[in-house]
Amino acid sequence: MANEIGFTDHERLISPIEHAEDFDSESNLRPQRLCDYIGQEKIKENLSIYLEAAKMRGEALDHLLLYGPPGLGKTTLAGIIANEMGVNIRITSGPAIEKPGDLAALLTNLEEGDVLFIDEIHRLSRQIEEVLYPALEDYALDIIIGKGPSAQSIRINLPKFTLIGATTRAGQLSSPLRDRFGVILKLEMYTHEELSKIITRSADILGIPCEDEGALQLAKCSRGTPRIANRLLKRARDFAQVRGNGVIDEEIAKEALCRMDIDHLGLDSLDRSVLGAIIRMYSGGPVGLETLAAAIGEEAVTLEDVCEPYLMQIGFLSRTPRGRIVTNLAYSHMGMADPAANGQQSFDDL
Ligand code: ADP
Repeated sequence: MANEIGFTDHERLISPIEHAEDFDSESNLRPQRLCDYIGQEKIKENLSIYLEAAKMRGEALDHLLLYGPPGLGKTTLAGIIANEMGVNIRITSGPAIEKPGDLAALLTNLEEGDVLFIDEIHRLSRQIEEVLYPALEDYALDIIIGKGPSAQSIRINLPKFTLIGATTRAGQLSSPLRDRFGVILKLEMYTHEELSKIITRSADILGIPCEDEGALQLAKCSRGTPRIANRLLKRARDFAQVRGNGVIDEEIAKEALCRMDIDHLGLDSLDRSVLGAIIRMYSGGPVGLETLAAAIGEEAVTLEDVCEPYLMQIGFLSRTPRGRIVTNLAYSHMGMADPAANGQQSFDDL
């Protein structure tokens, strides 16, 4: 769906959702080993222990759930886990598994210790979940053959495998499914320093000359998300080639961001239209998500998954039981007077 500023989420430069162009280049930018995976220190520390212990026992790793906003490195981490365990990984997603037969085909093709990665696992249907439970607990598939009174159930044994589920919405996972994961890891947004390192690493791989100040400038606008950092790097390269001497320095990075209409905090016109609408049309909120989405011509799910996590992270937006409200930080970023400062109702009081 196109929004009022004329582009869809899939065309947004700072959307953490994967674009077609990311797909081609992401494979060579993905770190292959845990030591090359930048940031998420706590997760890496714990994971390295789980991996070592599983290897010492000669067993498959426990089923593992990764959750966090898109573009933070869930798929990358799943690939690293398979690499570190020295096993194959099969990648699929919740909506791609439509029938129990689809899941059965995936499971019966696994080898001992293999990793099955299901992205967007919260989108699995209940029927598929039911088939998955015995596979996760007993490494077995119960298949019903025939219909009515002559129907028979047969059990197929599966190799011991590891399921890695990824989701942006842990809350939407049914609790029986969530309970079957031995390890649940929440990915955090990255700091500017971590994103800077990711940009420098990607620039090295892609052969792009990039100065530290240039990388930091791009990192500050990457919304805590490696996928966006890599994308901004590639766009800044274009500006460096055409408008500069090919090197991404601080000045070129700033010019590129300015021309892409991305401000110093990484907000683009869609973020600004969300904040602007709440301030101008709803006096700072509270306003319901659906109402807000309709007001700016965007899909509620895009606002919830793409805009809101970062706006909340930087303290511009709060979710309350009565709806979304903007904070005084958002007022000052938008260059508008905060009514709370004029003795009107404070949003903190809502
Ligand atoms: P998700 O599955 O969470 O949507 P991905 O694993 O596809 O995210 O990561 C998106 C891109 O970001 C990948 O191309 C990868 O190169 C990069 N990336 C993600 N996390 C890291 C990290 N910790 N270190 C280096 N690069 C990363």
